[in-house]
Amino acid sequence: MVTKSPYTLLARSSECKARRGEVATAHGVFQTPVFMPVGTQATVKAVTVENLKDIGAGIILGNTYHLFVRPGHRLIKEFGGLHNFMNWDGSILTDSGGFQIFSLKELAKISEDGAAFRSHLDGSRLFLRPEDAIEVQQALGSDIMMCLDTCIPYPTTREETVKSTALTGRWAQRCRSVHTVRDQLLFGIVQGGMYPELRKESAETMVDIGFDGYAIGGLSVGESKEQMHDMTEATIPHLPDDYAVYLMGVGTPEDLVEGVWRGVDMFDCVMPTRNARNGTLFTSTGKLVIKNARYREDKKPVDSNCSCYTCRNYSRAYLRHLFVSREILAYHLNTIHNLHYYVSLMSSIREAIENDRYSSFRNDFYGRLESK
Ligand SMILES: [Zn+2]
Repeated sequence: MVTKSPYTLLARSSECKARRGEVATAHGVFQTPVFMPVGTQATVKAVTVENLKDIGAGIILGNTYHLFVRPGHRLIKEFGGLHNFMNWDGSILTDSGGFQIFSLKELAKISEDGAAFRSHLDGSRLFLRPEDAIEVQQALGSDIMMCLDTCIPYPTTREETVKSTALTGRWAQRCRSVHTVRDQLLFGIVQGGMYPELRKESAETMVDIGFDGYAIGGLSVGESKEQMHDMTEATIPHLPDDYAVYLMGVGTPEDLVEGVWRGVDMFDCVMPTRNARNGTLFTSTGKLVIKNARYREDKKPVDSNCSCYTCRNYSRAYLRHLFVSREILAYHLNTIHNLHYYVSLMSSIREAIENDRYSSFRNDFYGRLESK
C-alpha cells in the first residue's frame, strides 16, 4: 500500500540526528519533537482538556486495553469516538493494548492468533487478535493507531527474541491488512529486544509492510540507559527519513533530550503525571520532593523559570501543605506543573534545533541539573 507520509521535516541539526518537524492528522498538525501526555482512561489524570490546551499539548495518548475493558469501544463509538467522548479536539494516539496485556503476566497467554487474557477488573476471559486491536482503535477514532505487538521482557534470550519479533512482524501485516479508515494513521512497532541485528531486521520488516510512521518498542523495560540508547541508534538508520519516529514509553527529561539527539520525534510516558501525584516535581534544576520539611515556609514557586498556572499562583509552602494534607487540589496543581515542564522542554528543544544549537542546548540542560 502506497502512503504519503504525514510527517514534514522542517529543520535538521548539523551536530547530531535531532530534527524539527510536524505531523498532520485528522485533528490538526502537531509539532515535533513532541511529548504526548498519557490519558489512560479517556482522561489525563487530574487535569481537564482546557488545562491541556493551556499547557500547549498538541497530542495525547489513550490506552486501548483500558478503554476496551471499560467502558468498551462500542459505547465510545456511540458517542462519536474518543474525541467527542472526552471532549478533546486535538490529536489522539492510541496504543494497541499489547503492552498492558503483557503487563498482566500470568493473566496473559500468547499464541499465533492473538493474546488471551483476563480482565484486571473482573477476571473475565478476553481474546485480542491483531485484527481486533485495529477494529477497537478504529471504533475509538484515534488519529494514530498502533499495531498489536508482542512485548519482550528484559532480559530475554536471543532465540526467544527472534521468535517473538517474528510474531510481531506477522501481526503487523495482519493489522495493516484490516486498516480501512484512511484518515486514521497506523504506525508499525519495531521490536528486536537488545539485539542490534534483530532491531535492524524488525525495522526492515515494518518498512516492507509500509506504515504511516514507525515506533521503537520494547525499551525502558529494565535495561541500562546505554542499552536503550544503543537500541535506538541500531533502529533509526533503518527507518525511512521522511516518516515520524516514536520512542514508546520513554521517559525522564534526560531520556527525551537524548532521544531527540538520536533522531526521535515522539515520546510518551506516565512519569510527569504519576510523579505529580506522588509529589515529585520536575524543575529546570532537577527533581523537587514537595513533602520535604524544607519547603514548609518556602514562599517561592516550584520553579522560578516556569510560567505554568501553578507556579504563577502558588508557593512551594502551599503546595506542600496541600500534598501532606492529601487534598485533591494537590494532584491537579502538581500535574499542571509537571506536564507544563515536559511540554515546555520539548518546545525549547524545537527552538534549539531550528536555530541549530541543539548541542549547546543539551550542555546547558545538564549544566542546570548539576547546578543544584
Ligand atoms: Zn510550574
